[in-house]
Amino acid sequence: MKIGEVAHRLGVAVHVLRHWDDVGVVVPDRTPSGQRNYSEEHLHRLRVLRACQGVGMSLPEIRQVLHRGEPERTGAIERQLHRIRTQRAQLEDAERFLVHVINCEHDLLTRCDSCTRYAASVPLQQDEHVTPSTTP
Ligand SMILES: [Zn+2]
Repeated sequence: MKIGEVAHRLGVAVHVLRHWDDVGVVVPDRTPSGQRNYSEEHLHRLRVLRACQGVGMSLPEIRQVLHRGEPERTGAIERQLHRIRTQRAQLEDAERFLVHVINCEHDLLTRCDSCTRYAASVPLQQDEHVTPSTTP
């Protein structure tokens, strides 16, 4: 499958596919004339790649996840799981707070123990060093 068709099927720009090839995340085969040639397996990997990007993983991390032989693979997956679970816990706290505050009878949130407790539990700054993804 030619790169243009893959780009069309996945809704991704051609230059993005080239970049993912260049950085070794999803590397297609080459035709004898040197053109990129994607198989269904490559397409599958590209879909996994996009799903991983959707949950905030960086390209180096995704490369590790996609390639079974990568020595850091398990570590990368565990770090991402940890990140997702932390985010979920924070979302659940936020949900509990909002459910409470909609019915909170205190005129000032600071006079309410529940509200104050929630405010105190929110981390002021993420202590995780999440590498911003600089690439598409
Ligand atoms: Zn309250």
